[in-house]
Amino acid sequence: MVCGEELIQSEECICLRCVYKLPRTHNFKYPDNAAEQLMAGRIPFERIASFCVYAKKGMLPPLIHQLKYHRHKEVGVLLGRIFGEDLLGSDFLKPIDAIVPVPLHPKKEKIRGFNQAEMIARGLSEVTSLPLLLGVLIRAVFNPTQTKRTKTQRWENVKHIFRVNDPDAFADKHLLLVDDVITTGSTIEACGVALQQCHRLKISVATLGEVF
Ligand SMILES: [Zn+2]
Repeated sequence: MVCGEELIQSEECICLRCVYKLPRTHNFKYPDNAAEQLMAGRIPFERIASFCVYAKKGMLPPLIHQLKYHRHKEVGVLLGRIFGEDLLGSDFLKPIDAIVPVPLHPKKEKIRGFNQAEMIARGLSEVTSLPLLLGVLIRAVFNPTQTKRTKTQRWENVKHIFRVNDPDAFADKHLLLVDDVITTGSTIEACGVALQQCHRLKISVATLGEVF
């Protein structure tokens, strides 16, 4: 899916050579990294990590495009697994209790066929053995796409769209909130606002890409 070379038997979607060349940030090793600085003061969080840099002409955009618009959900699972392998044994991962993908609205999920963040979360869960918690954090409002919006418009668009339908299910947990790409951070912030009603909840965040 990156270089167009034929895959060998053990490879899936992306050849091993391209996997090694992925523009990893390794920012899970660095507290106060750029993603954490972006979210500082907006919601209470523990750590934030993004797997790769999402550069316009880089390797990640075509992969995310395959995942989101060409229904290649296996790319999400695969990238989630590779990210999970990087995170294994790290201080970033150690305190996490469970993984929660940023939800899509059910209507949107039906149109796309799956939630791309959930596919990434599945890969992470497979490798780390952390449970996936689905259906507790929900997207209650069907809203239009974010891509052509300014930072303020994005926030207006998402600030009230998430709900927690069973706050006790998340009480006393340290959750890893998973999304495909972090851009302005408005989606993560909106999830964080909804999650604040859960008693003694801690939030860390993992995304495949970062754009800033
Ligand atoms: Zn390749």
